[in-house]
Amino acid sequence: MGKPTDRAFAGLEWLVRLGVVRGVLVVTAVSISLSLVLTSVHLRLLVSVPVPWEHWVFPAITVPAIVAPVVTYAVLSLGSRLLETRAALERAAHTDPLTQIGNRRAFTDQAGREMARLARGGRGFSILILDIDHFKALNDKLGHAAGDAALVAVATICTRLLRPADFFCRWGGEEFIALLPAADLDEAVRIGETLRLAVAGRDLVADQRLTVSVGVASSEGFPDRLDAIIREADRQLYCAKAEGRNRTMPAPTSRPTPPPVAGKP
Ligand code: GH3
Ligand code: MG
Ligand code: MG
Repeated sequence: MGKPTDRAFAGLEWLVRLGVVRGVLVVTAVSISLSLVLTSVHLRLLVSVPVPWEHWVFPAITVPAIVAPVVTYAVLSLGSRLLETRAALERAAHTDPLTQIGNRRAFTDQAGREMARLARGGRGFSILILDIDHFKALNDKLGHAAGDAALVAVATICTRLLRPADFFCRWGGEEFIALLPAADLDEAVRIGETLRLAVAGRDLVADQRLTVSVGVASSEGFPDRLDAIIREADRQLYCAKAEGRNRTMPAPTSRPTPPPVAGKP
């Protein structure tokens, strides 16, 4: 949205949506038509001296006057059709076709906006990365279509449980990512556990239960680098896998270190 052409497009889109452009142009064109028709009638009545081109005066004025609003309306309709197509393409570019949730691009755009808010003094946020455990085994056992159904089920469960302000996307393959605005690490771990338990507690496809491992990181630990926050959540996800899967792992670097106990090393 930064380029002047994008801003101009957004402005035009806003006006067309309100119907302002269409309304003003159609009213103007109809008024001009009416005044031209009246003027030509008036002239015809006034000019009593016959001239050879007399029979051209009336159509020369009235035809363009009638055609102008029709052309104006057609051009505006085509313009708004183009804007609708552009919006549909934009939506498709940010949506995962299987689960119908946001894709990696949608997440990166939204997280970029959250980073900008943080830089302006806004509240921090946290990120969860969820990876379905042993997903390949499910594909191998029940087939790719069952795997697809399980991905849709996980996306549906998590989207329903998250808060309205949260942003849940497919990160790629059998991995999902959640952006949790205004959530500190503890809140994010609580939310991660809620999602993990919800997935583990249901038959997702053909009576099969699946679990997810969850990596958590907060902007508290990495306030100025989105890629560092994501990398940290990813690192925690791999720790969760290494510790046996089906668990939620917060980034320890974001937590205050507990004070040493007296008498112990
Ligand atoms: P781990 O517990 O270590 O995460 O093991 P895993 O089997 O879940 O992970 P691995 O990376 O070995 O396999 C991921 C599988 O996800 C392999 C790939 O075929 C499958 N997959 C990725 N995208 C899709 C998809 O869109 N649909 C289906 N059905 N399977 C997918
Ligand atoms: Mg994976
Ligand atoms: Mg996996």
